[in-house]
Amino acid sequence: MADHIQSSGVSWQSHVKRLTSSFINFVFPPVCAHCKKPGAMLCAECLAKVSWLVEPVCSHCGRVVTHPMSRCPACLRHPLFPLQQVRGATLFTEPIPDMIHQMKYNSCFALAEPLAGLMVEAWPRWQMPVNFVIGVPLHPDREKKRGYNQSDLLVHYFCKRLNLAEKPGVLRRVRNTPPQVGLNAIERQRNVVHAFQADDTSVAGKDVLLVDDVCTTGNTLKAAAQALLVAGANSVFGYCLARAV
Ligand SMILES: [Zn+2]
Ligand SMILES: [Zn+2]
Repeated sequence: MADHIQSSGVSWQSHVKRLTSSFINFVFPPVCAHCKKPGAMLCAECLAKVSWLVEPVCSHCGRVVTHPMSRCPACLRHPLFPLQQVRGATLFTEPIPDMIHQMKYNSCFALAEPLAGLMVEAWPRWQMPVNFVIGVPLHPDREKKRGYNQSDLLVHYFCKRLNLAEKPGVLRRVRNTPPQVGLNAIERQRNVVHAFQADDTSVAGKDVLLVDDVCTTGNTLKAAAQALLVAGANSVFGYCLARAV
């Protein structure tokens, strides 16, 4: 009986949610964030242009390589240790950079749902053995200014679709570092060192998946992983929407 009442409640709520969403779509039809064609925030034509990250990739950092290898030349120069491995759903080629820009800087936070959908679609190719998923945090000042953290939104929709556990708030950004864009590899590494702190009671002994929108050198993921391991995490993996190569 309780099950029956619960399932009726869920079905009633989702019915209202569907009606509300249809009404909003009728009054404000969505347009594609990249080509501006009406219909969907990521239209079928732009979706068809997405370049997926596929094998062969470096088994450590997920960069595209010509043949399978455990450490690519970039990893040998700048190891991503202590991260176990990093993977991405797509390559950082159009329409993805524009979509990410719209999501981060033009208040198009609703794009997080279709973009997380790309991460869901690619997950069977890369899935990693983790206990829970967290987004790379923004410093509170930057999150307040933007109004949201795009990585947390990606995590939310990604976990919801795959029924994975998310743990917002266990990792904090304690230094407000300048954006990584425009810095070289060494500057990027210096910029984010000691920028994060993790809650040891939540992460001790756990295998954690860290999610970010873009991974370029991997230094942000690396600094965040370091903080999680200092707090006692067993292992840390990285997964991003787009792998820059
Ligand atoms: Zn489009
Ligand atoms: Zn590599």
